[in-house]
Amino acid sequence: VSATELAQHYLDRISSSGHNAFLDVNPELTLAQAKAADARIAAGNAGPLTGVPIAHKDIFVTQGWRSTAASKMLGNYVSPFDATVVTKFADAGMVTLGKLNCDEFAMGSSNENSAFGFVTNPWDALAVPGGSSGGSAAAIAARLAPAATGTDTGGSIRQPAAFCGITGIKPTYGRVSRFGMIAFASSLDQGGPMARTAEDCALLLNEMVGFDERDATSLTAEQGNAREDFTRDLNAPLAGLRIGVPKEYFGEGLAADVEQAVRAALDQFVKLGATLVEISLPKTSLSIPVYYIIAPAEASSNLSRFDGVRYGYRAPEYTDLQDMYKKTRAQGFGKEVQRRIMVGTYVLCHGYYDAYYVQAQKIRRLIADDFQAAFRDQCDVIMGPVAPSVAWDLGSKANDPVANYLADIFTLSTSLAGLPGMSIPVGFGAGEKNGKRPVGLQIIGNYFAEAKLLNIAHQYQ
Ligand code: GLN
Repeated sequence: VSATELAQHYLDRISSSGHNAFLDVNPELTLAQAKAADARIAAGNAGPLTGVPIAHKDIFVTQGWRSTAASKMLGNYVSPFDATVVTKFADAGMVTLGKLNCDEFAMGSSNENSAFGFVTNPWDALAVPGGSSGGSAAAIAARLAPAATGTDTGGSIRQPAAFCGITGIKPTYGRVSRFGMIAFASSLDQGGPMARTAEDCALLLNEMVGFDERDATSLTAEQGNAREDFTRDLNAPLAGLRIGVPKEYFGEGLAADVEQAVRAALDQFVKLGATLVEISLPKTSLSIPVYYIIAPAEASSNLSRFDGVRYGYRAPEYTDLQDMYKKTRAQGFGKEVQRRIMVGTYVLCHGYYDAYYVQAQKIRRLIADDFQAAFRDQCDVIMGPVAPSVAWDLGSKANDPVANYLADIFTLSTSLAGLPGMSIPVGFGAGEKNGKRPVGLQIIGNYFAEAKLLNIAHQYQ
């Protein structure tokens, strides 16, 4: 098929889909990109991804499509420039299908915090798709896009990938440019690919990584962030691989059906020649309070730019400047975003800063040290569940922020340590009434171990 036919096929599927995964489409622009890709293919100037459609999480800014971060604050915002990641995929000849729903400013685990409505899980319409990249995961699972971008601050690529039975990888912090990624928590935010398979993710990651001078925390080639071919080791045998299995990831609170699917996947790797080593990541439970101090602190600072002056929403009626700020932010931000701004400003304020923010930073370092101790002495990679349960029912935790935060327990420490982490589908949970709910296996590697993670994921059958 031609790139144009392929793009049209997906546009048709998107327009008749009921998952609410897309927030904006622009068929004219999509088809123009597809025609250009066809011309490039005809001219013999195509790469492996030329003409392949992709959709972007609405955290990445795009010219020609609205960029809202699923917030009323940016409801009609169209960016005058593209995010670096968007540019890189366009340069590779990929065709943009549109923008994907997510939790507002990527804050959430269920995609229910979107100002533009929830997304349903394609496996079970009563279940959440996960979050915050819920639209990305649902779009791939429902075959509305073959590839998507996601962002992961504390699990937002891995957990929705798990809930929707697809594959996603969060790279080492600093490998993928954050330029044009609407900021949530800058020391944690990292973009990555989401797709059906590890091989697809490898091809996508090939285009995504690399130093960007417009991102102050972007890693240079000398620091290890050279471009590389992530498909090169996909077929390498796994004999001799030492898999660390953290005992803290299999304790109380892990649903029996998730444990069963994850342990069955671990057995598969043993059959492929790997050995399992029990390890300990003793600070795992501290990752929740630490993350929910650091992420809101950084968010409160990042989101101060939404003041009704420069861009985005402005309250229609107000008395003076202060009143305009207040009304704009009260009306423009959703509940969860406001909660995080309040927590963030609290932990940063004079008098509490040392007790909360500084303590959290210290424990963050200890969490990273635990991983390094495991990688140094015991194992090559770490495996465990992505989340303690399969996707929950829509609405069941919508008014319980703490229940949402607790469900992030297995993904937060990887983010706090800046390590790469991946989710691959390894089966389904048991006993659901309305449909199957997928289970994801998490694979965590040391810094720059993306190719190894993708190799391991590719070997899983
Ligand atoms: N669920 C976590 C949060 O709400 C992680 C979100 C993310 O990774 N963007 O902050």
